[in-house]
Amino acid sequence: MDKISVIVPCYNEQEAIPIFYKEIVKTAEELRGKAELQVLFVNDGSKDASLAEMKRLAEQDPRMKYVSFSRNFGKEAAMYAGLSYADGDYVAIMDVDLQDPPSLLPEMYRIITEEPYDCVATRRVTRKGEPPIRSFFARRFYAMMHRLSKTDIVDGARDYRLMTRQFVNELLRLGEYNRFSKGLFGWVGFETKWLEYENVERSAGETKWSFWKLLIYSIDGIVGFSTVPLAIAAFLGVFFCMVAFLALCFIVVRALLFGDPVSGWPSLTSIIIFLGGIQLFCIGILGEYLAKTYLETKRRPIFICKETNVEKAEEENE
Ligand code: UDP
Ligand code: MG
Repeated sequence: MDKISVIVPCYNEQEAIPIFYKEIVKTAEELRGKAELQVLFVNDGSKDASLAEMKRLAEQDPRMKYVSFSRNFGKEAAMYAGLSYADGDYVAIMDVDLQDPPSLLPEMYRIITEEPYDCVATRRVTRKGEPPIRSFFARRFYAMMHRLSKTDIVDGARDYRLMTRQFVNELLRLGEYNRFSKGLFGWVGFETKWLEYENVERSAGETKWSFWKLLIYSIDGIVGFSTVPLAIAAFLGVFFCMVAFLALCFIVVRALLFGDPVSGWPSLTSIIIFLGGIQLFCIGILGEYLAKTYLETKRRPIFICKETNVEKAEEENE
């Protein structure tokens, strides 16, 4: 019988975990006879009773496993940890807040076993219940990514997906520190089937993503999967050189024809400030790439596990 590992990243989710448990047990029941479920909670340095909840569930139900971090490392690190600890024949990633409906899992499993796909992923076709400003910027981000990057990054794509063992093993080979999973999933390739569903609102607790966090995450995405901003910086440089050259010709000719009265310092300062701004902007772009390279070369671990009840992987980790 196949084993499906379900990775569930949790950060301060004490209310959501018991609700999630009830639902996932129903799903396991549905899959009974076809596949067995193993749930791998990843406690991403929660400050509330999330870990206690996980331990309580693990005690009463041996299918529940947990990996607990030494601090908050972020959802990307939690997903990576989950992937490296999971040992199922198929691996799913699911949010704990039921925004990734567990009821889709049997259908996903049917597709991945019966049809020639290596991955079944989900995307939201609506963003109901989300602040409009957030949806607006999210849409802009995906439109921009589409143009900037060769990797396929799908609008509305969730991290919720079911993958084959082979797909997971390839993902694990991408051990980069600055992780942007939506891009990594696309980068490894294989055949992916997309299921669409309407947005579901959070079961309990509140979102862990502030607008600011999302903005920084989107910059990670762009810098991680495209070098087009560097080309834009170079293009701006060439463009302004040309403008400056034309302006120079104009000024020289004008001075020869009409003499050179001293005037126009406001326009001059405007130009200097404008160009100064462009230069700082371009240095900023350069800095982003340099910073990512810097962090990458340190080769720091992506996460630190403080405790877990997963036996096999624990030895590997030593
Ligand atoms: N999460 C995490 N670490 C973090 C932030 C979030 O593990 O630093 C988890 C969180 O517990 C949830 C999932 O990632 O299971 C998605 O987070 P959330 O529901 O807050 O995001 P949203 O659905 O609003 O985009
Ligand atoms: Mg959510």
